[in-house]
Amino acid sequence: MSRLMISISGIRGVIGEGLTPQVAMEVAQAFGTVCNGGTVVVGRDSRVSGEMMHHAVVAGLISVGTRVIDLGICPTPTTQLATENLHASGGIIITASHNPVMWNGIKLLASDGLFLDAEQGEKVLDIRNRGAYNFRSWDQIGHVEKYDRAIDEHIEAVLALPFVNVSQIRARKFKVVADCINGAGAVAVPKLLSALGCDSVIINGTPDGKFSRTPEPLPENLGEVTTAVEQYGADFAVVVDPDADRLALVSEKGEPLGEEYTLALAVDFILQRKRGPVVANVSTTLAIDDLAQKYDSPVERTRVGEINVAKHMREIDAVIGGEGNGGVILPDIHLGRDAFIGITLTLQALAETGKSLSQLRAEMPQYSMVKSKIELADDMDPKAIIARLEEKYAEEKLDKTDGLKILRDKSWVQVRASNTEPIIRVMAEAQTEDEAKALASELSEAALSE
Ligand code: MG
Repeated sequence: MSRLMISISGIRGVIGEGLTPQVAMEVAQAFGTVCNGGTVVVGRDSRVSGEMMHHAVVAGLISVGTRVIDLGICPTPTTQLATENLHASGGIIITASHNPVMWNGIKLLASDGLFLDAEQGEKVLDIRNRGAYNFRSWDQIGHVEKYDRAIDEHIEAVLALPFVNVSQIRARKFKVVADCINGAGAVAVPKLLSALGCDSVIINGTPDGKFSRTPEPLPENLGEVTTAVEQYGADFAVVVDPDADRLALVSEKGEPLGEEYTLALAVDFILQRKRGPVVANVSTTLAIDDLAQKYDSPVERTRVGEINVAKHMREIDAVIGGEGNGGVILPDIHLGRDAFIGITLTLQALAETGKSLSQLRAEMPQYSMVKSKIELADDMDPKAIIARLEEKYAEEKLDKTDGLKILRDKSWVQVRASNTEPIIRVMAEAQTEDEAKALASELSEAALSE
């Protein structure tokens, strides 16, 4: 299997096994050609291969006449915000997000700081496929300018948000453990916490890309941070993925809240202050619907993927949105998943209510989500299996926004074919873990029975 995926949203691959500097340079040349001699902001996470990828990307961009604004190691949301605020023609983020250390990739941003949509992505792919790069002569090539204000500007923008009372947060001198997985968050999260007057303990805080654990911030990967919370007697802990768009929270008891609850807490916080539409992807917790109902606000669901959520938020003028995997999007600052927002709103909620994070979690609608997968043999067609399930469950309430989702009372189960592996992903949510597990098994069995 080739370990390189090229899609309209960028590329992702294993270094040395598909993802090479040549591929990175070609994508950058194609993107720079689309940007037609404009300005492109470039940021990267801290992966060991990041420097190699960065040189290739910058060379490709300059060759087609681009002015490169180089942010160096920088979180994804910060690069998105800088692309928008510096009025660039686009942006490039060199990251493989939560993938393991041997991976890297490229994400492409439009001038508004949003990821490219399908149409924009096709344009870049088409230029690369045809090799139709607009190479410039020696006197027309681009150049690089370093820019080191992006993180400070991001933090200033977060602190200036409505609903954020910096002096109130500072007065509490929260003790916070932050696990930055030696990723891009390491250059930004400690700064944010210190700007908010927190007494922080940073673990995995060297941005050298050496991930000491599985990078995805799932509860099972958070052993080190939960121990640190107990040792230090911290108020809570924050955990980001390597490019710091996803945030997981751990309570003062050392218990991971589950990534779904990062968004649920943020939605509760915002809707208390400002009612209006909420957007989430179809795989996000039902807690969002319950909270929206409580505040008399509508919820709309999109396909999985930040760009789908962000675009729909703009269309319907949503007050908050995001993805259940710890990705909070607050349009007051920008339409991108942003761990800085989740951290700051959590601190503000704790400061205002005087409650602990485990108390706030206990006050949330209670759901349990399970994720499993169906392994497919070579002769099994995921589309046919999902079509058969659709027929079998035709009498029930179905949502076909992304794969097939069966909605029941206070529970749901969803099956989706993976784009990258011969599996069908199964997700189920219910009010108890047993019920969620039963739903997931029911669908897995139904999928495999003729
Ligand atoms: Mg990420």
